[in-house]
Amino acid sequence: MNSVSEESRKCVEKHMEELKGGYKGVCPVCGKTIRICKSIRIEMGANTGSGICPGCKKLLHMTFNEERKEMNLERFKDYQKRHGKECEANAKTDGKGSGI
Ligand SMILES: [Zn+2]
Repeated sequence: MNSVSEESRKCVEKHMEELKGGYKGVCPVCGKTIRICKSIRIEMGANTGSGICPGCKKLLHMTFNEERKEMNLERFKDYQKRHGKECEANAKTDGKGSGI
């Protein structure tokens, strides 16, 4: 009955591969260093994503830092707050017709 252990070994190998391909990020809530796999969205150039911290289970927003090859993590609530402000600012510049 090798099949079960064989399967779990493959599973571990796959997981290790994923870890190798992942990027480091530090949770701003609990300070845990987590490895984040490059998501499809990031591959497509979005450079942002979100996920749950395995340490504190808080929802985090992540931005890929291309210079450092790391993930910048922030609380999703903080991101939402900031993003909301950006939207307001965009709406204001739209009114002025900046043309960007
Ligand atoms: Zn955390």
